Amino acid sequence: MTNSNSNSSSQNYVLFWADFRWLLFWMGVGAIGGWYFGVTPWGIVVGLVFFHLLRLYALQRFSYWVKAPIQAPPPEMSGGLTFVATQLYQSRTQEQLTQQKMMGLIKKIRSSLLALQDAVILLDSEDRLEWWNQSAEKLLQLRSEDQGNSIFNLINVPEFREYYEMTKTPNDGVRLNSWKDPERYVQCEVTHFGEEKLLLIYDVTRLQHLEQMRKDFVANVSHELRTPLTVIMGYIETFSDQPDIDPKWQRGFSLMTQQTRRMNSIINDLLMLSRLENEEAHETQCVDMPRLLTHVFDDAQIYNKDYGHFIDLHLDSQDNLYGSEMYLNSALLNLVTNAIKYTPKGGEISISWTAVKEGCMFAVSDTGIGIAKEHIDRLTERFYRVDSGRSRATGGTGLGLAIVKHVLYQHDATLKIESSEDHGSTFKVFFPASRICGTSSNSTDA
Ligand code: ADP
Repeated sequence: MTNSNSNSSSQNYVLFWADFRWLLFWMGVGAIGGWYFGVTPWGIVVGLVFFHLLRLYALQRFSYWVKAPIQAPPPEMSGGLTFVATQLYQSRTQEQLTQQKMMGLIKKIRSSLLALQDAVILLDSEDRLEWWNQSAEKLLQLRSEDQGNSIFNLINVPEFREYYEMTKTPNDGVRLNSWKDPERYVQCEVTHFGEEKLLLIYDVTRLQHLEQMRKDFVANVSHELRTPLTVIMGYIETFSDQPDIDPKWQRGFSLMTQQTRRMNSIINDLLMLSRLENEEAHETQCVDMPRLLTHVFDDAQIYNKDYGHFIDLHLDSQDNLYGSEMYLNSALLNLVTNAIKYTPKGGEISISWTAVKEGCMFAVSDTGIGIAKEHIDRLTERFYRVDSGRSRATGGTGLGLAIVKHVLYQHDATLKIESSEDHGSTFKVFFPASRICGTSSNSTDA
């Protein structure tokens, strides 16, 4: 600030002296001429007039030069105008250079966008097509007449509109079955910049097929393993129930029973995950939540027999939820059995159902072993365990929270985990108000 002030005052000083010197010069010349003819004051007046005529001439040349389209160096002019013209010329030359560089950069960006394999579409503030690259032309069969058309005329799919309206908050984009070719899949991602938007569309058909293959493989393997495992389990149980079994085989049989049960739980969980992933729409109804939670509480009491925790249930809300009773029961019971499993004997478990600002909240808190901060974000990954030894010992499959995540996703719910090592954990599930479908007539607190 101080620097620019001192710069402009020194420029004013230069300008003032450049003109003032010429003024003195022409007044001096006029005075000498006037003195020679005995009319000194008139001589000074003539000098002044001459000075102004020269200024006017210089100003005219300056204005022609400023208006000229081709930037030639400024013409020869006397006084402060030369200084102004030189400064202007320098800054214009600099500006031109920057402009040329920018143009070069824009050309490069444009040609790289054109060469891109993915479709790129620039949308204006009214969601109309402004510009697109060659891949967009091929993938969406765009023609020049489409310029100015709304994107929703082009991609007339409800899932796209739903995603598009949520793009103000960052998200991963939406995968759609191509509206041009039902055999193909595309991923759409919108990025906002100012009022405009950049829509990126790329072909993910191969990825989709690979994902489907992975899902089918897990589902088929789990399904195929189920029958032989049931047979093995049946025989092991029959043999171990024999009264005349040799005591040296006793331990072997009990280990076999334990491990086959574990395998059975893993297979059941894998099949459940496959069902959750593959089912486009599951059976939904208005679920009586207080009743469902009372069942969860009763099941938890049975599971709690070996642990001896004190469990309580607070039904502070009577709200019911629109969803799948079976999946909701499975997910919420999973959270409760985890709280029981990961709490040393004689702990306290609290289950609650409460109305909150965003809708409804299910919470289960325990006084258990807790979870270190670095593990919390990864808990819902398949087979992720903080301590695999402990998880196996408690009969865990490592798939419980992955199932919970899927079920919650299908119910538009979010999971929040609060925990600290050795100080217990709280798992909170938030259901949006849009899922609430009336209230239950029962009211129970345990
Ligand atoms: P698992 O079948 O091993 O219990 P989950 O997917 O249900 O698998 O849980 C993943 C891991 O999260 C568990 O192995 C455990 O380490 C941790 N965990 C889940 N719930 C709790 C809890 N309430 N307290 C402490 N750790 C927990």
